[in-house]
Amino acid sequence: MLKKGKISIMHKDLSEILITKDQIEKRVKELALEISEDYKGKDVFFIGVLKGCFLFISDLVKHLKIETNIDFMMISSYEGKQSTGIVRILLDLKQPIDGKDVIIVEDIVDTGLTINYLTKALKTRKPKSIEVCTLLNKPSCRKINVNLKYVGFDIPDKFVVGYGLDYKEFYRNLPYVGVLKDEVI
Ligand code: 5GP
Repeated sequence: MLKKGKISIMHKDLSEILITKDQIEKRVKELALEISEDYKGKDVFFIGVLKGCFLFISDLVKHLKIETNIDFMMISSYEGKQSTGIVRILLDLKQPIDGKDVIIVEDIVDTGLTINYLTKALKTRKPKSIEVCTLLNKPSCRKINVNLKYVGFDIPDKFVVGYGLDYKEFYRNLPYVGVLKDEVI
């Protein structure tokens, strides 16, 4: 993001900033405190879903007041802007999760197909509990009912980038979440 004096200038490919850097920072702290309260005295196994979660999970875990384990998975369900409907595990966990309290950390839940697939797949590994924490949620796009325990922001049905989220691998580094201009897609 460019800065002119105190005014942040939006990336030229965006039509609007939906969630500012400050709003993200505040909400991520709130989520971390809520999780710390809910899991007081427990060790929590966080599973970050790459790549979109990388900024969110790193900010989230910094504010936790509980013991944590962190591992990552990489899943492919999107090509460019379109859901392919096919979910593939590209990178799996390095550690077992049986008997553990697990929280899956996602960047965004849209149709719900990805998180539904992932949760079901991980439940076969017999965790003690499994919940989902997503930064963004698009409730109007849901194709399947999913239980999201922790949600950063509900957003409208718009294709967003920034704070980890990409379009064709660009824009992940933006410190805010914004909507791509139609002509860019
Ligand atoms: P779902 O299976 O819930 O439809 O989609 C989940 C995945 O789709 C997310 O992890 C993310 O990779 C991608 N996705 C869904 N909506 C958006 C969006 O607005 N922007 C970006 N960059 N990715 C999205």
